[in-house]
Amino acid sequence: MPQVWTKKSQEEIKDIVFAAIDKNINYDNDGALGVPASYLDDKIFNQDASFLKEAPFLYTLVKNPNHIGCHTLGKSESFFEGTHAIERELIEICAVDILKGELHQQDGYVASGGTEANIQAIWIYRNFFMKEHGAALEDVAIICSADSHYSMDKAANLLSLSVHKIPVEHATRGISQEGVSSCIAEAKAAGKKHFIVICNMMTTMFGSVDDVHAMTNALVAADCSFKLHVDGAYGGFYYPFTEDENPLTFKNTHITSFTLDAHKMAQSPYGTGVFLIRKGYMHYANTQEASYVEGEDYTLIGSRSGANAIAVWMILVKNGPYGWHEKVFILQKRTAWLCQQLEELGVSYFRNPNSNIVTIDAKFVKEETVHQFGLVPDDHHEPKWFKVVVMEHVSIEKLEVLVKDIAGNLETV
Ligand SMILES: *Cc1c(COP(=O)(O)O)cnc(C)c1O
Repeated sequence: MPQVWTKKSQEEIKDIVFAAIDKNINYDNDGALGVPASYLDDKIFNQDASFLKEAPFLYTLVKNPNHIGCHTLGKSESFFEGTHAIERELIEICAVDILKGELHQQDGYVASGGTEANIQAIWIYRNFFMKEHGAALEDVAIICSADSHYSMDKAANLLSLSVHKIPVEHATRGISQEGVSSCIAEAKAAGKKHFIVICNMMTTMFGSVDDVHAMTNALVAADCSFKLHVDGAYGGFYYPFTEDENPLTFKNTHITSFTLDAHKMAQSPYGTGVFLIRKGYMHYANTQEASYVEGEDYTLIGSRSGANAIAVWMILVKNGPYGWHEKVFILQKRTAWLCQQLEELGVSYFRNPNSNIVTIDAKFVKEETVHQFGLVPDDHHEPKWFKVVVMEHVSIEKLEVLVKDIAGNLETV
């Protein structure tokens, strides 16, 4: 049973958001003379438009609260404490009711996206190994599967770390314990002593989920010093609702942190990555030099829009936890329908049974089909796969036209 996440009516949502904005600074009345901030320019964005009274997200955008910093620990900018409290509740919903953490035992914030949240995790662990284990930069390596998002390579480049990739099997997109073990052995041979390990909860291209036990068994067997981050940028608002025995939660003591992207499966505005981590780690990314920020800054981004946090919170509480299960259930049904049709046609594809991504073998897909249906390749130069992502707007009626098109081209394969 959900502990924090409750379904709310539109009226309740409005009351809560407007009350929160009221607790934030009022630039019209208060002596707000020292902050480089104000409402959106009212020559362009009318502050009094009557429809704003019915539109809590747009109202928040116009009031433009800054959510700089991390609001689950220490102090935060008191100018925006009303809306910070809503972000805190959002973090708690994700950490406790989606990822099975204990109440108040996780920190987190709304990042610009999955890329930032992944970099934030890797940055924290790099600093952790350097501070707590006296590691040098060259001692620390990132380990992730070959199907991982390229933000791992970005993080490695920015943080001067090496990346070692675990091979995946072509047809199943799976990693094996032996694969993990040989990746560790290779990294150790290159002098690496501490490992930042990334486990995917749905990869971008395939929706595949890494076998976390294969990872942790190999790491423990090789007696490694490691920290484990779960990249749920794609799957965070999906997989926990389709897999009842999800091993990727805070109940797994090997896991320290998660990335979830609300701007993918949760259909929220861009700029809504969610970073979550067990208490006791955020401070490894503290920039004490951020002396003008009340409460200091433990995040990569700096200033960020509070409206983003409000949007994700609104989406989750309007649907409610049971509504969310139903939403995902419908997408699962449609995905199963597509797979059944492909099966009957003898078209090869990959799908994780708990995911809404169907990745079709490129040899069954003509170039015209790719353009007509907006399919996405794994590699724009040399495509081996094309994916269909079953989102809210991807109805069975639309999928039916695709299936007919693929069926019509079978003799040319
Ligand atoms: C999309 C994605 C990212 C990056 O997220 P952005 O929000 O685009 O920065 C990271 N990891 C996975 C698995 C993704 O699907």
